[in-house]
Amino acid sequence: MLADDLQDDLSEVILRAKFDRYLSLEKRLQLTLLQLRNITKHYPPDVTAVSQVTLSINAGDVLCLLGPSGCGKTTLLRCIAGLEQPDAGSVWFEGRDVTNVPPHRRDFGMMFQDFALFPHKNVFDNVAFGLKMRGNGRSDRAARVEEVLQLVDLAALAGRTIDQLSGGEQQRVALARALAPGPRLLLLDEPLGSLDRALRERLMLELRQILQRVGVTAVYVTHDQTEAFAIGDQIAVMRAGRLEQVATPEKVYAEPATPFVAQFVGFENLIPGQQTEMAVGIQTPLGPMRLATAPDTAPGTAGQLLLKPDGARLVDEPAAENGVSGEVTAVSFRGRYYQLWLQTAASDHPLMFEFNRLPGCEYGDTVHLTLAPESLRWYPG
Ligand code: ADP
Ligand code: MG
Repeated sequence: MLADDLQDDLSEVILRAKFDRYLSLEKRLQLTLLQLRNITKHYPPDVTAVSQVTLSINAGDVLCLLGPSGCGKTTLLRCIAGLEQPDAGSVWFEGRDVTNVPPHRRDFGMMFQDFALFPHKNVFDNVAFGLKMRGNGRSDRAARVEEVLQLVDLAALAGRTIDQLSGGEQQRVALARALAPGPRLLLLDEPLGSLDRALRERLMLELRQILQRVGVTAVYVTHDQTEAFAIGDQIAVMRAGRLEQVATPEKVYAEPATPFVAQFVGFENLIPGQQTEMAVGIQTPLGPMRLATAPDTAPGTAGQLLLKPDGARLVDEPAAENGVSGEVTAVSFRGRYYQLWLQTAASDHPLMFEFNRLPGCEYGDTVHLTLAPESLRWYPG
């Protein structure tokens, strides 16, 4: 009897090790797990919630859908889950078209903003619920529930009812419940949305660690760029139902694809400009600006120029090129750096630049900066 149990345990361990190896191999090979092809979803009478979204997610990756409220994130997630039927396009999972597969047959785990836990049931029963629905036996359930509760560090609280837990603990119960059936894909819709700022900061890291430990592929919806950067391997920025950029957090930050993305990830210095005859030159209200590389659009093209805040140096005289002159409206200490706000001829609102050391100027001074070409990004059109 004991030997049988041991045998079972052993084969479970071996299976798990093989599965883990398989998963990491899958991740190393960058296999596509989920693919969205040209998804469009309308709501009557005339809302286009999602428009022609094409997207791939590699096995083991966490993809963050990032965008402002109302841009279609939840609708897209529901199309992936099968809770909404797209009007056009298809959903592919492991190379199979699952567009017409009902939600419960897709074996995806889901976690929503409101958690939807049973408040008067205890932690154990809440996590066991999904397994029960799937027809797992009692002892099988108990073992699996214990395993996931360990994973999210809640084993000690298994007997508590939900209304005896903090917001963060409830969030981990919801995560455990979603993970319990071992889903091949986890869908999370603003799972930290209802928590306060400080708690969110901490839980972001915890969530990231748990997802990495489990190695589960996930689609994570948020409107918070900090959260997306902290949690995503890839970020898909959405605006009005469309994708604006899909890339790593580093890439989105270093090279925002559009002015919208730039603003959404926190860059504010956008000024109007026009390409000059000079291959790498942009004429702006602040004077000529030289880019690091030549744009492939024609001279005369109008557009917007992004001035990143960390590429500025204070100089004594107005610079002939890449210069910004303006009046200081504020100097602000931000801990690791200082912010300098300048009212310039380029925009109604002040432009903001960052310095590692206290810039030697104060409110009302007129100052001159020069900008590194690498800190500029040109958006034609
Ligand atoms: P997000 O999750 O990014 O906030 P949603 O996907 O919830 O955005 O909504 C996208 C758009 O679709 C919004 O304009 C919203 O009002 C609309 N919408 C969402 N669900 C429905 C629905 N069931 N019926 C009609 N319009 C809807
Ligand atoms: Mg939503």
